[in-house]
Amino acid sequence: MTDNNTAAVTPVRYAYLDQQFSDVDAYFDDLRQWVSTGEFTIGPYVEAFESKFAEYIGVKHAVGTNTGTGALILALRAAGIRPGDEVITVPNTFVATVGAIVAVGAKPVFVDCDDRYQIDVDHIPAAITSRTRGIVPVHWAGCPCDIERVMDIASEHQLKVVEDACPAVGAKVGGRCVGTFGHVNAFSMHPLKPLNVWGDGGIVVTNDDEIAAWLRLYRNHGLVDRDHVAFWGINERLQPVQAIVASRLLDSMETLISRRNENARQLDEGLRDLADYISPPERPEAYREVYQLYLVRATRRDELMAYLAAREIECRVHYPIPLHLQDAAKDFGYGIGSFPECEQQASEILTIPAHQHVTPQQLDYVLECVHAFYRK
Ligand SMILES: *Cc1c(COP(=O)(O)O)cnc(C)c1O
Repeated sequence: MTDNNTAAVTPVRYAYLDQQFSDVDAYFDDLRQWVSTGEFTIGPYVEAFESKFAEYIGVKHAVGTNTGTGALILALRAAGIRPGDEVITVPNTFVATVGAIVAVGAKPVFVDCDDRYQIDVDHIPAAITSRTRGIVPVHWAGCPCDIERVMDIASEHQLKVVEDACPAVGAKVGGRCVGTFGHVNAFSMHPLKPLNVWGDGGIVVTNDDEIAAWLRLYRNHGLVDRDHVAFWGINERLQPVQAIVASRLLDSMETLISRRNENARQLDEGLRDLADYISPPERPEAYREVYQLYLVRATRRDELMAYLAAREIECRVHYPIPLHLQDAAKDFGYGIGSFPECEQQASEILTIPAHQHVTPQQLDYVLECVHAFYRK
């Protein structure tokens, strides 16, 4: 590639938020109309978004929250997780999965991940004790975990399942959205998730009418109406501004997911001849990913990342230190060697930009640089 062509495709950026809302006028029109109504807490805009989201996901109830972390905490409480309970999850996730379990007073119990970077379902039975009350499987990086087998194990052992679908709005297993399998499940609309708003936002979903009624009250102080408190709750409401932004973006969600899938396919295919050095995970037919992150395992990962950075390709590592090895986890009783697969992945995993604002030409350039690195 000549320098001129290179200039046309670089930089290949990890962050894309400044490009994400280029059609901002339509959003401002929606907001202008809303401001004049004075509906600044829950109200019709939040409720309309909740119905639209529930329909998109294919679930009976969606309840908006202030954050994805808040959605997880509410989901865990609604599922009946109490102080002292053990909850099984993975050490390779965003910190909030574990933070939410600790926030409800429960004890996280980790199991290792598989070679798709998802919870290794085969390890779950051995982690179950008499105190286990729930499982929080994560659809890590927007890729479905084997949620069907998680549900089988949970029902066999009478455990509650709270899916951490925070990064995975629109990801599917056998045509069914993740976040519809567990008892009560959480999504995030943080700026770096596929469905992203202008700040923070989250959604709890469930098919259970009673749980939904509790969630609606709990996130709004337990208030039945202005003068009556049914029980002590908190303020964890989704803001109307974010509901309005999310509602419009949801209309282009399928297009956005298709673009990410096309980009992922281009990278998968372009990397195939380098399988000895760098490889994407297996992509089972029945799973639709949304590629919140496009993850691969790479030998000489840190060197490759520096080489790409020098060529204006911005990669990231999610994450270099697994959660069981963090200072915060020192009372959990784990150490180096506790989760070998996860630890190995932490030293090899690399996130390459493949979001909807990366072009096929840019990905050709990324592939050319990766080839140059391993072939030199
Ligand atoms: C983003 C994320 C969360 C937390 O969501 P916030 O909206 O940032 O609070 C939780 N779990 C996972 C797996 C995530 O990716």
